[in-house]
Amino acid sequence: MMSVKEHPPGYWLFVEEEMLFNCPCGCGYEGRLRTYLSGTIKPAGTSWMWDGDPVRPSLHPSIKRHTPCGFHGFLTDGKWNNPQADGALLAPNVYEAPR
Ligand SMILES: [Zn+2]
Repeated sequence: MMSVKEHPPGYWLFVEEEMLFNCPCGCGYEGRLRTYLSGTIKPAGTSWMWDGDPVRPSLHPSIKRHTPCGFHGFLTDGKWNNPQADGALLAPNVYEAPR
């Protein structure tokens, strides 16, 4: 199974219909979100709309982790931000092309 744990905080990877990411806060938590492309029908259950951009992706709605860190923020145009911190960036864009 693919993992993003060895990557820096904020790293993301789109695999089939999921986005894997290393939590932007630096806690090391690996998240997995079910995604669907903008303009297609939302699948049943919890899922996030992806604009289809693999380099500077945007996801909606916001991402809230039910983990000890409680991260809550947006991934917009390839940048993580945290509206609870007045939009301060928690991590730079750390996108790397999948190997
Ligand atoms: Zn975290």
